[in-house]
Amino acid sequence: MFALLLTASLIPTQAPTDLKKFVYPLEIAQKAPRVTVDVSDFPESKAWGDAAKGLVETWFPTVCSLLATEGFHPPKEIKLVIKKEISAPAWANGGTITISGKWITQHPDDLGMVVHELTHVVQSYPGSKSTPGWLVEGIADYIRWWRYEPEAPRPKVDPVKSKYTDSYRTTAAWLAWTSRKYNMGLVPALDRSMRKGEDPMPLFEQLTGKNADDLWSEFAASFK
Ligand SMILES: [Zn+2]
Repeated sequence: MFALLLTASLIPTQAPTDLKKFVYPLEIAQKAPRVTVDVSDFPESKAWGDAAKGLVETWFPTVCSLLATEGFHPPKEIKLVIKKEISAPAWANGGTITISGKWITQHPDDLGMVVHELTHVVQSYPGSKSTPGWLVEGIADYIRWWRYEPEAPRPKVDPVKSKYTDSYRTTAAWLAWTSRKYNMGLVPALDRSMRKGEDPMPLFEQLTGKNADDLWSEFAASFK
């Protein structure tokens, strides 16, 4: 993959003419839009917010190169808003990432969560009925755990009690395993179809020769 990325990065300015031949379709990384930090509700988080801003600026081009398929329009601005307390560690809405001050006080090392939310900013799927929420979350955790934090301990997956529709890390672990074993183009292809509002599920069979249920059984069996 390095060779492919290197070759693509040498192409000067205009987009590649045939995007389909690239596993990661926009290797010409997009520069991060303006990133702002609002800590007015929780000024103690200023230093953490600045670190998160740097992370977004650095990682936006990478997440785009992994995931921003055709038709992706980057937001003009990414806003990081740290609130004293919200009902989740963080969420993303359009170009705004809202983060819980309470959470980051308790988990100051959790910058990986910013990468997860940044992935949602890049995803920004149109909200079609055929877009599975568990897959959206699974891809965000795939980018986080298999790209941003590949050295972190692997999340544990219980092959008997779990399923690929469990979302988050379980889905991410299965996507990573399936991609590596069958087709590294799987996640970008899933992203591309959800960006178009299409049903992504047939892609599993098209790209790996096996449907999602069979791929899960095989993944689960790999733990034995
Ligand atoms: Zn999420």
